[in-house]
Amino acid sequence: MAAQPRQGRSVLIRGDFVQTPTLGNLEIFRDYLLHTNESGIIVYFSPATDPTSLAILSTPACQNPEVHTNGTFILPTFCDLHLHAPQFLYQGTGLHLPLMQWLDEYAFQAEESLDADPILAEKVYEKLAHKLIEHGTSAVLLFGTIKTETNLILARAMQRAGLRAFVGKLSMDVSSRPSYKEASAEVALEAAQDFCRKCQELANGVVDDICLVEPVLTPRFVPTCSNELLSGLGKVAKENNFRIQSHMAESHDQVEWVRAERHAEDMDVFAQHDLLTPRTIQAHSSGKTPSPKKTNMSVISCNKAY
Ligand SMILES: [Zn+2]
Repeated sequence: MAAQPRQGRSVLIRGDFVQTPTLGNLEIFRDYLLHTNESGIIVYFSPATDPTSLAILSTPACQNPEVHTNGTFILPTFCDLHLHAPQFLYQGTGLHLPLMQWLDEYAFQAEESLDADPILAEKVYEKLAHKLIEHGTSAVLLFGTIKTETNLILARAMQRAGLRAFVGKLSMDVSSRPSYKEASAEVALEAAQDFCRKCQELANGVVDDICLVEPVLTPRFVPTCSNELLSGLGKVAKENNFRIQSHMAESHDQVEWVRAERHAEDMDVFAQHDLLTPRTIQAHSSGKTPSPKKTNMSVISCNKAY
């Protein structure tokens, strides 16, 4: 059954609004009227003195808008473009370790515990959704875990809370933790497609404009994905026009690992497998990549974040 977003009351706000639609571009809307429906969707936004605005304000149900007076203004909510949902379990710990060691000692273990315990996953992801809302975030690009059902719990939690969420089931057929990886590239590919299908099914029965979750193909990063898996994910993305996310050139030890094991740079490996597309977001990319190629992908730069 589809997870329905929380229904609320319609909202009418009058005041000054500010947005930055592109880098370096600031737009200010002075004395505007914004109206949302009960699902939180903006259905009207125009100067408060326009005839249509005056007509809305004169209707009995809309006579008491929330008014923000001079000196205050209203901003759009935040979009978080790189969040590992399982790390909400242990945020802020283990930061003394280099990346590859930290993954082994903290991240993989926590993800495995969520995959083994759906009740814990439900609790953690419900809390995460509410924490995001508390901090003003309404859209988020998520890394989950490797188990399909745990990622569906994550997607349903976001949908119920009314958050727009792009949910990534991790694909990884190589791991330093033998109990936390997918059995083969073939198994991982089937699981990735199964998750995408089931995540898309969450939209069944939901009114189009409030279907908030979408699957994202998520090879964790080069060290945890065989060439066979990366190549398969590239094909699946192309055939289905799926979005893609991963990590690229995240830390010195990770870049050196890929050079030693794969005799290549991260960017070249992703490019070889058709994973750098206009619908790709690569986190970090903070190390130096000696052979940069022109792609249409997006880069989220967050040094020293995992
Ligand atoms: Zn990350």
